[in-house]
Amino acid sequence: MCLRPDYFFDRLSSVPLSALSGARLLLLDADNTLSPWRSPAPDPDAAAWVAAAKARGFALCIASNSDPARLAPLAEALGIPFLPRAGKPLPFALRRFLRAQGLRPRDCALLGDQLLTDVLAARLAGLRAVLLRPLDPSREFVGTRLNRLLERFLLRLLRLR
Ligand SMILES: [Mg+2]
Repeated sequence: MCLRPDYFFDRLSSVPLSALSGARLLLLDADNTLSPWRSPAPDPDAAAWVAAAKARGFALCIASNSDPARLAPLAEALGIPFLPRAGKPLPFALRRFLRAQGLRPRDCALLGDQLLTDVLAARLAGLRAVLLRPLDPSREFVGTRLNRLLERFLLRLLRLR
């Protein structure tokens, strides 16, 4: 099924880098994956994981539907580039970005906390998909909260919770 992630972990920091071996580029969602919603500072555990992934030779990039003003401080704090307005769950901006980097979709993984944006985008673009639990589900965009209702139902359907 199109929405099933390859992996499901609690946090970015609980993803073993060995699970991503073979991937050259890791695309990371911002809100509730790298930092709490709208926070310009990364979650300390997520930041440590990003540093470890860099040290292991992975290329990393933030891929978020947010605008550059929200993403720039987060990217700077982590020392990685960012793709703003990624248009998830649509695959077009992600595919264009990978093409520009000379990467094939199967060389990339997308890690994020939303089934209906992150996992669906990864699936539609042909990337590996890693689903995470949101860092702080109590703080979210109102549209995201609505998505979560449907997501809870789908996660049960996929037997992921
Ligand atoms: Mg998110």
